[in-house]
Amino acid sequence: MKILRLLAALLLVSAISAAQTPSPTPSPLLKPDARFKVDLLLVVAHPDDETGMTPYLVQLIDQHKRVAVIYTTHGEAGHNNMGPERARTMGAVREMELRHALASVGIDNVWFLSGRDTPSQNVLQSLANWGDGQVQEEMVRMVRLTRPEVILTWMPGFFAGENHGDHQAAGVLATEAFDMAGDPAVFPAQLAGPVKINETLLDGLQPWQPKKLYYFPDSSGDTNFKGSGPSLPTNGISPSLKLPYWRIAMETFKYHLTQYRTFIEGLKKMDEKQIAAQEKNWGGPIELTLGKSHVAGSVTGDIFEGITSAQIPFGPAARETSEHPEPLSVGLGGPWGFYEKFYRAHGLTKLPRPPVLEIAIKRGTTLTVPLELHNHTDSPMTINISAKLPDGWTTQSGAGSFTLEPQSDYYLQVLLDSPNGETKGAQEIECRAEADGKTLADIKISVRLRNGGLPQN
Ligand SMILES: [Zn+2]
Repeated sequence: MKILRLLAALLLVSAISAAQTPSPTPSPLLKPDARFKVDLLLVVAHPDDETGMTPYLVQLIDQHKRVAVIYTTHGEAGHNNMGPERARTMGAVREMELRHALASVGIDNVWFLSGRDTPSQNVLQSLANWGDGQVQEEMVRMVRLTRPEVILTWMPGFFAGENHGDHQAAGVLATEAFDMAGDPAVFPAQLAGPVKINETLLDGLQPWQPKKLYYFPDSSGDTNFKGSGPSLPTNGISPSLKLPYWRIAMETFKYHLTQYRTFIEGLKKMDEKQIAAQEKNWGGPIELTLGKSHVAGSVTGDIFEGITSAQIPFGPAARETSEHPEPLSVGLGGPWGFYEKFYRAHGLTKLPRPPVLEIAIKRGTTLTVPLELHNHTDSPMTINISAKLPDGWTTQSGAGSFTLEPQSDYYLQVLLDSPNGETKGAQEIECRAEADGKTLADIKISVRLRNGGLPQN
């Protein structure tokens, strides 16, 4: 009996000590949620931005590839053709129009980030208005969740075109996420495991390195990008929907009523022959630019060429160093200056670009040429800024002689008023900076004057 009592006491002691000691067995990690793993992630700024890419997205769905789309804003800053609703309310409406449009072709994984629709051509204003670090963290999180093989996004660059700052900002943040999502040092709280049963702060994600990054331009001079990536036909017939892919894209466009009610009502009145004739507007090939690739394959080859299901290690951006500037220097600031730094930071200096810097503005409005002036010498220096302009243009301000204090940096805006009347072709303006008879900078910008469009800033 004594022995039995002793054994019972020992068992009790060991049970108490087991309850107080943490389990030595590791708890297995759950596998990432497979429902949201995609082959291709499209990153755009506004509902309807997907339209140009929809023929290709539907081809991918037909090939049983998985597709998701990220919208960085709700597109709430435009007009409303359907009712009085504006601002955030219209953003909610546009989200619903967009979800219906994409669900109609089998794309259910649609994500919205917290950026605000910011109508200007200035990418820096869009990024600032979004609190770019916040949307950047959201973008990296979504890349780690959706684990895309390929990211497709707006080309980050400054062009004569629609050139929406939000489009550019979506491309900037998608490029950053391509280079950051695989880096375990970036947003590490997203990668941290739970520290309590009901973890509410730490995301539990894994780093993810996408394999390829492709761009499509927001430019009217698309010839600048020819041959820089695959050309994707849109006139094939979908085996599932029995229509040409361009036509399917046009059908999805019908959901964007707050934006295109008149156009959509016109489409509804067309007979089959008139609809078929729309091919001339909708049926051209999609021209892409290959931005980056971590796998073998040709520039113009298939988007999924060289891609296997094997995960690849983190591939940091091939940062390119800049030349050391002269002690006295003048350069472009604003978006133009930003992109020079951005391309170097992300190894993109070989991206195709127009031969001369370009912009389109509304005729009769003011063009701003943002300059950065640096005097890193120990003496005051005088520089002269002048503008050489085509007929009809005038210099409003920013030209003249300026004395720069030693070891100082300055911003200067050269404001140039464009003519109101009709002009033929692009206008070339030239801004020159000189000191002691030496040219410090000779900046040429090709300006297209139009009857409307987004403001420069
Ligand atoms: Zn847009």
